Amino acid sequence: MHASTAMPADEDTSTRHPVVIIGAGPVGLMAGLVLTEAGVPVEIYERNLEQMNELRSAGLQPRMLEVLDHYGIVDRFIEVGNPITAVQVYLKGTFIPSAGFDSIRTEYPFVLGCGQNTTEILLHQRLAELGVHVQRGWRYVAHATTDDAACVDVQLARVDSDEVMERRACYMLGCDGGRSSVRKAIGAQFIGKKTNEKIVACDMKVDADQLPAAW
Ligand SMILES: Cc1cc2nc3c(=O)[nH]c(=O)nc-3n(C[C@H](O)[C@H](O)[C@H](O)COP(=O)(O)OP(=O)(O)OC[C@H]3O[C@@H](n4cnc5c(N)ncnc54)[C@H](O)[C@@H]3O)c2cc1C
Repeated sequence: MHASTAMPADEDTSTRHPVVIIGAGPVGLMAGLVLTEAGVPVEIYERNLEQMNELRSAGLQPRMLEVLDHYGIVDRFIEVGNPITAVQVYLKGTFIPSAGFDSIRTEYPFVLGCGQNTTEILLHQRLAELGVHVQRGWRYVAHATTDDAACVDVQLARVDSDEVMERRACYMLGCDGGRSSVRKAIGAQFIGKKTNEKIVACDMKVDADQLPAAW
């Protein structure tokens, strides 16, 4: 079943303030898609002028694929992605026995290898088809709720000039990542814990001849 853009008859989007979304990472883009498909007007503001070009989160789980199916766009991801049906762990010179994903009850019993940059591009494309264009180069600065608490005025500043603007929203979504300015502004806690592990991430091509023989 795919999402419908149908609106209740008594709703009039022209008089409603939009939901303002801060940040066009996967969370902001997906929130934008879900709301748009539900007939809720959105405006998405992203401080980066250019599309992020790193692999980062590299796999889409079966449940995420089911959600993308619901919104009618899973085929676009499968077309460019690489279905991973099993994972082989190689530790200190030994292969560790590991299970595949066959036993998961889903239409998509695999993790789809698909870089976060590709995920973001495909979500951008779908939003554009629905008439939503991410406003790049705008940085969230601050916000204030109106006296009747019905709306929120969001202050945004250009990253490449002195231009500032204010947008009135019915809601603001802080989708601005791990160091979220919105979260800090509303005084919300970052729930979780820090570890001392150091992880090095790099995007590279590996010559297959260099991998262990059974790989
Ligand atoms: C180097 C690296 C490697 C990673 N590898 C993996 C991995 O292998 N697997 C995995 O599951 N996850 C990985 N992650 C984590 C994954 O990228 C995040 O979980 C994911 O990006 C979170 O999505 P998000 O939309 O919440 O935030 P983000 O992707 O961080 O998006 C937030 C967006 O908000 C924008 N923004 C921030 N502040 C403002 C502001 N004030 N105004 C306007 N816009 C703003 C940012 O520019 C950004 O585009 C990695 C992250 C990094 C940095």
